[in-house]
Order: sequence, then C-alpha cells, then structure tokens
Amino acid sequence: MLTLDQVKLKSKARIVGLQQVIEAATVALIERCYARGVNVVITQGLRTYAEQDGLYAKGRTSQQLAAVGLSYVAAQPNEQVVTKARGGYSNHNFGWAIDFALLLPDGRSVSWDTLRDGDKDSLPDWSEVVEEAKKLGFEWGGDWRTFKDMPHLQMVFGLSTTQLRIGREPSKAQIAAAYAVIDKLQEEAEELSQAEKQELAALRSEVKELAAVVSGLSKSKVTERVSKLEDRASIKAPEWAQPAVKAAVNAGLIDTPEGGSQDFYRILTVLDRAGLLTTIHEGDK
Ligand SMILES: [Zn+2]
Repeated sequence: MLTLDQVKLKSKARIVGLQQVIEAATVALIERCYARGVNVVITQGLRTYAEQDGLYAKGRTSQQLAAVGLSYVAAQPNEQVVTKARGGYSNHNFGWAIDFALLLPDGRSVSWDTLRDGDKDSLPDWSEVVEEAKKLGFEWGGDWRTFKDMPHLQMVFGLSTTQLRIGREPSKAQIAAAYAVIDKLQEEAEELSQAEKQELAALRSEVKELAAVVSGLSKSKVTERVSKLEDRASIKAPEWAQPAVKAAVNAGLIDTPEGGSQDFYRILTVLDRAGLLTTIHEGDK
C-alpha cells in the first residue's frame, strides 16, 4: 500500500503555481481521498498560454488556428480534440483549475477509468473523488452540459476567463469563505483521526495484555500439565489428534506420540488449535 507521502509526491510538481486556495483545496482533496482508500494524482495544474495553445492545436487545422489568431502554432489535425480553450481561455491558465486521475497501486500507472472501484466499496473511485472535491468547493467539469470534462476541477468565484484575462480576481471575502470550507473539513478529519488514534491505543494495550496471558502459559507449566495427563489411561493416538500430536512432538513437549489418554489427546488438540503449541515452539528458538 502506498503511503500518503508517496501519493502526495506524485502531484507535487503539478501543484506548483496554482492559486493558494486551490493548492490548499487540492492537498486536502488528496488527503481526504486517501483516507477513503482512493489515490488521486493531479495531472494538470497551471498551464501557460503557450501550453494551452499547444493543446488547442490538437484536432484542428492550420486554417482553424489562423481563424483565432494562432497562425504561429503548429496544427495537429490528426489528433483528437482535447479542449475548446486556446491560450487565455482556460481557467488552467490562471491557476484556478486542476485535472485529476486515479493513481494505481503500483504508484506509477494512472487511470482515467471512471468506473474503476479499486477500494472495493461498490463506489466508483472517480465518483468518490468528485464527491470530496465538491465538498471542498470545487466545480466539476463532468457537470457541464456541453463538452463534459471528467478530470477537470475548478474554483472561479463567478469570474469568466474574459475577466481573468484582464486581471480580475476574486474578492478577499470570497477567498476567505473558500478557505473556511476547506479548514472546517480538515478540522473534522483531524478530530476523527484523533478518535481513531485513541481507539488504536486501546486496542494495542489489549493485545499487550493478551500477549502477557499467552506468555504466562510458560513451557514448564504446559509440560507439567501434559505429563500429568500422560499418566492417565493410555490409548493409541486417535486420527483426529494426529496434527496436535505432531505439533507437540515438534514443540518438544512430548517424546512419544503414543500412549496418552483420551483427555490428553483432546487437550493437546485444543492447545494446538489455539495455536499455543506453535507459539511455545517459536518462543524457544
Ligand atoms: Zn482541466
């Protein structure tokens, strides 16, 4: 299983240059999805105008590019169209948008399969990411009526790219409100993980107590009981007791597999099924 740090590292370079509130929301998104068993990778963050123009050239002829003033961009008419936005017309160009995909368990491969259920919770991982993203205040490109953009997430605060191109920015109040949503979710997650930590600590001490009980069944005590039982009416080891007898011999508890009583074999079997014969054996090493 990948650690949260490993998952985060995959997106580190793509987060650079994003608007601060988008960066905060993106980090929170990666963490929250990880907590749900879904690993997210950010495949696109800030895009320069030139990079955007390069994407816009895919699936378009030089005439089409020239028509929008991009005669200097190399056309790629044989490719598939990937965007309707040229440089300055995408929210990616201003750091208000990201694209995500699913990071597969090998920590390298990426999936755009929107139906994949890697954490086997009967929910598509993609939908889980979208759900978390929306909680954090993102708008999802998959909700758009025309040109559904499934990997796309953005926060634009009601601003159009036309406004962004001339340098308009969200108000301080809008940004503060966005942070408040993110912070509240993060605080809740923190409280939850505190509760989990306490539960884990309680479990740990329980396991310690159990281990103490098991180790209390020292070899000498078990040997003592075993030899007492051996003295009773001896019979040939029955078929059902064979695994336990074998284990007891291996554990060095008895020398001869034959000649114990019915009770002897029964208790030996109980001890074996409880895993105690192996425990004693391993403890001796
Ligand atoms: Zn996008």
